[in-house]
Amino acid sequence: MRPDTKTKVIIIGGGFGGAYAAQYLEKYARRANLDIHLIDRNNYFTFYPLLVEAGTGHLEPRHTVVSIRRFLKTTQFKMGEVYDIDFTAKKVAYLAPDGLSQHFLEYDHLILALGSQTFLPPVPGLSENVFLIKSMQDAITLRDRAIQKLEEANIEEDPDQRSALLHFVVVGANYTGVEVAGEFEAFIKEASQRYDNVQTEDCKITLIERENRILNAIDSDLAAYAAKKLQKRGVDVRTGQTVSKIFPNSILLDNGETIATHTVVWAAGIAPNALIEKLDIPVDGKGYIECENGVQVKGLENVWAIGDSAVNLGPDGNPYPATAQHAIGGARYVADAIKRKQLNQAQKPFEIISKGALAALGCRTAVAKVFGVKLSGFPAWFLWRTVYLFKMPGFARKFRVALDWTLGLLFKREYVQLGVHQLPAPYLKKTPKAEQVPEWQQS
Ligand SMILES: Cc1cc2nc3c(=O)[nH]c(=O)nc-3n(C[C@H](O)[C@H](O)[C@H](O)COP(=O)(O)OP(=O)(O)OC[C@H]3O[C@@H](n4cnc5c(N)ncnc54)[C@H](O)[C@@H]3O)c2cc1C
Repeated sequence: MRPDTKTKVIIIGGGFGGAYAAQYLEKYARRANLDIHLIDRNNYFTFYPLLVEAGTGHLEPRHTVVSIRRFLKTTQFKMGEVYDIDFTAKKVAYLAPDGLSQHFLEYDHLILALGSQTFLPPVPGLSENVFLIKSMQDAITLRDRAIQKLEEANIEEDPDQRSALLHFVVVGANYTGVEVAGEFEAFIKEASQRYDNVQTEDCKITLIERENRILNAIDSDLAAYAAKKLQKRGVDVRTGQTVSKIFPNSILLDNGETIATHTVVWAAGIAPNALIEKLDIPVDGKGYIECENGVQVKGLENVWAIGDSAVNLGPDGNPYPATAQHAIGGARYVADAIKRKQLNQAQKPFEIISKGALAALGCRTAVAKVFGVKLSGFPAWFLWRTVYLFKMPGFARKFRVALDWTLGLLFKREYVQLGVHQLPAPYLKKTPKAEQVPEWQQS
């Protein structure tokens, strides 16, 4: 039976978990009498799987973000930075986009879909010298950086200096790192043909992985294929190695070797969202939100957590990996669970069916395992693009992405800078750690 009074659902985070949770909840809003609100610091969500394509000029960067207001129909969206939650008073505190004025929202149900941030271990020189790939701005910055270094190399007379300028190091060889290495190798070598004093052989990519194989999350035969493909194209794939110090123009490896490089891309894992640390909420040893019955935050009634920020255990007792497909699966389940609670229906057991994994390697090659079927090379790459084109929300955006890709087959990429690389250490501004104290805690 439809409840008489409205139930307020607040979702924090409008990424793959939060935006999809709102969209699924909208379907039940009338029947379950729900009033849905979503808060995110951005008024768009980033379609992460296509970020590297944006960074290497296959896609217009704008086309990798999706407007939340357009994605949702009846959800009330508020752009702001959530900086505290009172789980007893059931209140969320957030700052307006001006970063100053405090606002509060009360909830009956709260969905935490805060995502993650790039893991930055305490390696000396890391925070000052590395580039990340976690936002549209990062993608543009990286592309600008590569073009800047090509321009510098073009007028550099010292061959050693030129090699350092054209040596790009990627640390972390899971999906993101492998894709960055593969796509940038193709991008830089193609771009180098436009420079009189740069030879294609001068450009070098090194991929460094701490584990003894790349693509740890995918079957070892596919990972071996990926490593071989990258090596054949000249990428120096190093496993079982790690970085112990980073300088502006070089890095020091744990084996004592120094590599002269001006550009280090850090893609070595994720860390919990900084807000979680501030909240009075159960977390596991690494700081991710602990859940019971799949997505219910331990010990907190009507508080749910999904996506990268949560530990969502499957029926086998293992956590689902931090991927977009699992965040969307969690979103679908949590929307259904809230509806069932509202309508006094029995809950379904929590389970997300994994469809598989895809990793792009650049040069129209990829590896994939989808519904148990393994693919590699061009067919896997074609599948990769088809899957993400279909997953991109909205017909208009799908059309733009398809158009970018079609034009990319007909014309060469543009090698121009957009000027973003001149910003100092762009990543330092990320995930502002809200140090604000809410009014209710001020004496
Ligand atoms: C480069 C890259 C490539 C990837 N490729 C793939 C892929 O090919 N396939 C795949 O399955 N997964 C991929 N992933 C992983 C995937 O994108 C994540 O697992 C997924 O986005 C997790 O969803 P989420 O909702 O938990 O977090 P997100 O999608 O990151 O959403 C979190 C949201 O919360 C907001 N937020 C956080 N804190 C606050 C706050 N305090 N106040 C207000 N708003 C806040 C953020 O702005 C963000 O919009 C990739 C990730 C990266 C970085």
